[in-house]
Amino acid sequence: MMNLNGHLLYLDITQICGVDCSFCMYAEKHRNGINFQMSDTASQNLRALINDRSVKRVSISGEGEPLNNAAVFHQILQLSEGNQAFEFISSGFWPHDMLADFIEVTDRLVHGNRDTCNIRLSCDSYHVEKVRHKPHGFSLDFWLRTKPESLSLSFRSVDTDREFARAYLLEQVAQYGWQGHVTPHGELDDILWVGERSFRIDYKNHVHPSAATPPGYLDLKGYISALEAKVGKPFTLGSLNPHPSSNGIDLTMKPDGRVYLYGAENDLLGNIHHDEFTWDGLCQRIADTPLLRQLYTTPLQELLSRFDGDLTASRIISEANNPYWVVKELSQEPNLVERMIAS
Ligand code: SF4
Repeated sequence: MMNLNGHLLYLDITQICGVDCSFCMYAEKHRNGINFQMSDTASQNLRALINDRSVKRVSISGEGEPLNNAAVFHQILQLSEGNQAFEFISSGFWPHDMLADFIEVTDRLVHGNRDTCNIRLSCDSYHVEKVRHKPHGFSLDFWLRTKPESLSLSFRSVDTDREFARAYLLEQVAQYGWQGHVTPHGELDDILWVGERSFRIDYKNHVHPSAATPPGYLDLKGYISALEAKVGKPFTLGSLNPHPSSNGIDLTMKPDGRVYLYGAENDLLGNIHHDEFTWDGLCQRIADTPLLRQLYTTPLQELLSRFDGDLTASRIISEANNPYWVVKELSQEPNLVERMIAS
């Protein structure tokens, strides 16, 4: 059995979104988007996956806005038997009174189950431009005043424009009468401080940059190097855990129930509504599948260097510009991924 521990379960519970960010990787799915709905088999699978000790976090988001399926998020929370870390990744687009109710209900459920949940709000120029009821200053003020018992708050940016996120959050929190400051924390993280309270800001890199993308993003090599600096070891596919811990499985479920390993979405593992999933079974699947085993054990930089001089592969790699999108896109061309499997 491979040594995999500290798994991430990432649940995309909706394709519905009306925010309409100009930078959206899922815009095409919003036209006829669906919500994930709980079935008996899905509930059994998720209960087993969530309550395994080898899971470090259950992240709920979407190929759309997960607030559009908030009832299912709360159903998922109720599958927990305690001591689990959840995360809810959202634009926070709801009017402030609805958002406050949502936070209170979520805190009650999470606290009642002895779990924790981080609410991670998008904070970048793309979301800020489009979200009408800006949630950032409101949520910071709400947290500072009401101190939810089992929830934390953090921010995420889909690009590396740190100056934008820093200035925007400081201005937002000041509107509610608070003074904050930001300290850098490694290559892809900042900390926003308001008094003694801290709120993390994490930065992703641009996926599929275009001619219109503002300069300053990292290329794929630079982004992988930043991720490697963050965890202190070479980047392989899987859920990254800092050195000396081993990585975990990075499992993702789509709104229709299809299940994949994140970053290896050329290989459908099954459907949560009618197949059975266990972490041990998934470990075995990775060990038994040559491409998955290679991706989970060999540094990605080394695998990608096998394409040096190949024009098609080099174009795909530079256009995707993201380690989790590149394998799926390479697999759409004949014979390319086979080169990754060769030892
Ligand atoms: S909120 Fe998220 S899903 Fe909706 S348009 Fe913006 S990036 Fe896309």
